[in-house]
Amino acid sequence: MVSGHYTNLTVFIFFCWLASQLLYKGFAVNFYNKLLLTETNEELEAQIAQNEVMNAQLKKQAMLDELTGVPNRRGFQDYINSVMTDESKRRLSLLLLDVDAFKSYNDHYGHLRGDEVLRLVAQSIYQTTMIPTAGWARYGGEEFVLAVFDQPSEKLDELAEAIRQAVQELRIVHAFSPVADRVTVSIGIYSAALSDGVQLSYFIGQADEALYEAKRSGRNTVIKREELSESFA
Ligand code: GH3
Ligand code: MG
Ligand code: MG
Repeated sequence: MVSGHYTNLTVFIFFCWLASQLLYKGFAVNFYNKLLLTETNEELEAQIAQNEVMNAQLKKQAMLDELTGVPNRRGFQDYINSVMTDESKRRLSLLLLDVDAFKSYNDHYGHLRGDEVLRLVAQSIYQTTMIPTAGWARYGGEEFVLAVFDQPSEKLDELAEAIRQAVQELRIVHAFSPVADRVTVSIGIYSAALSDGVQLSYFIGQADEALYEAKRSGRNTVIKREELSESFA
């Protein structure tokens, strides 16, 4: 009789122990899995954050010209698109600048020194204008473009003239230029009111014609075309 009770008790205790073991294991596995999940999540979040930083860097790089570090056409277009929708901006002026006789500079002094000239010209434009970071670009081989908003005609003349002189004052010897004894630039300006549907390409085309005129009239000079409106006469 007593031994029967002991057997029952032993069996009962055994099952209690078994149940506690199973519960404990279940809990331990659960706990471990949760820990693993948290760690994996943290790793994933760190990876995502790192990818976002890299993407932002790549996007920025894709907007910059490798040689000069100046925004490229894409960066410029991006900037212009964002500003053109700003209704407080009423007038856009583009300055298109081209290094004079640059082919002959490369031919006589070499491409590497030509590259250095482009970097120096870019630096000179930047120091002279202090233009907002994306408001300009290396637009082509030896061409740079600058966008200026809501500036009166005489300010554009001053700005372009200051750039032209600053480049001249770099005193980069160019013994084979038909224009001067040093590297010079020609600048074409186009200035007009911003209106609905007006495209950057139209402004570029007009500035390019002004630049062409500057080249034809002897280089190392500034030519401006403008559509005057009342507030900017
Ligand atoms: P113009 O006064 O009429 O502007 O004459 P130009 O010789 O400057 O113009 P042209 O269009 O005949 O030559 C442009 C030269 O620019 C030719 C090309 O070798 C050079 N060039 C374009 N991109 C680069 C560059 O990234 N580095 C160097 N070093 N030269 C370049
Ligand atoms: Mg050119
Ligand atoms: Mg040129």
